Amino acid sequence: MSLVAHSSHRKCFFCSNDATDKPIVGSVGKGGTNKKADVQLVQAFLNSTPPEEGGPAVLLAEDGLIGPKTQAAIDKFQAKVLSRPDGRIDPHGPTIKALTTLICDSASVPPGRLGLDGRPGQAAGSPSTAPKTPQTGAQMVAEGKQILKDLERSLMSLRFKLLHQTPTTMAWLNKHFETAKVKVTPGEASKLLGIVSAIHFQVSRANAFGAQGIDSIIMFDPKADAGVIAWTVRGGDKLSTKQFQIYVEKGVNIKAPGHTVFLGPIFTNQPAPIEKQWTVIHEMCHFVGPRDGTGLEIDDNAYAFEPHFLSIGKWFKLHNAESIALMILEFAVGTAAIVGTPRLAKFKSHFDTFPKVVGGQIVTG
Ligand SMILES: [Zn+2]
Repeated sequence: MSLVAHSSHRKCFFCSNDATDKPIVGSVGKGGTNKKADVQLVQAFLNSTPPEEGGPAVLLAEDGLIGPKTQAAIDKFQAKVLSRPDGRIDPHGPTIKALTTLICDSASVPPGRLGLDGRPGQAAGSPSTAPKTPQTGAQMVAEGKQILKDLERSLMSLRFKLLHQTPTTMAWLNKHFETAKVKVTPGEASKLLGIVSAIHFQVSRANAFGAQGIDSIIMFDPKADAGVIAWTVRGGDKLSTKQFQIYVEKGVNIKAPGHTVFLGPIFTNQPAPIEKQWTVIHEMCHFVGPRDGTGLEIDDNAYAFEPHFLSIGKWFKLHNAESIALMILEFAVGTAAIVGTPRLAKFKSHFDTFPKVVGGQIVTG
């Protein structure tokens, strides 16, 4: 007997009963199998839940380990949603359903709309033109924060995709990362999952706890170098707001505050809202990747406006902020919206070859 119903016209990822999209594989909590990936997802769900809705008062580390804090958070959430809490979350049980439904119901932004000037002009799947009046620094910061906040649901959904690694998802990843038919491996998809999860952690923190989480990330830098749309410190999420990273660039010592993504004055000049979204996600990829000097940091190996964007090696693509950000952006706003951006016009045939993202789902054909 199958307990799983398949539907070809699902509307909502989180409410789906499709086995391949099942959020957790085993049980989590008291007496559960507590597989690391499952525990990590439960921790992410709990962190995405506002405290007054049963989420933890203090954010959990998303380390995949079931300790007293995670167990206490499960107990707290169950006390809120179940009449008979048992401390354990089962793959098809009421707790996981409540956790996912809560996030689903709180998703108020239609797919394809991110940020302030992404709405209402930007219909799903079609880029719109830039606002006629330039944004002030404060408006740009508000825009950047809103872009991140609106990404939450897509990031959570993308985490599932990268965790389950179905053939369609893997074929879709090749669009962004394969070279000369050298395909993306499951291990590489898992590393991308790490980046997406780290960005999601920052975003869910902001959404669960109000503006503070994002306030410490997105800031305006009126003195940014000419030509710099935005900048950040690689691995800056490993630093507190009170720490600095000091490094030398072009012979100049730079002392950059930790935990910050800076928007430069020309951030407002980008030709379409979608370009701003791409920029913010791009910086977040640098921000949550490994620290500078590790050799594994998320770098700028090729920008999309450069002709060799798609022909650099697979390793370079997997460590390229522009490539990872484009994957996330495509998942959030859909393939139709990204192929229309000025930066990607010349690569349209490539992006149309692989599985597409339509309405938050990866589809072939
Ligand atoms: Zn960059």
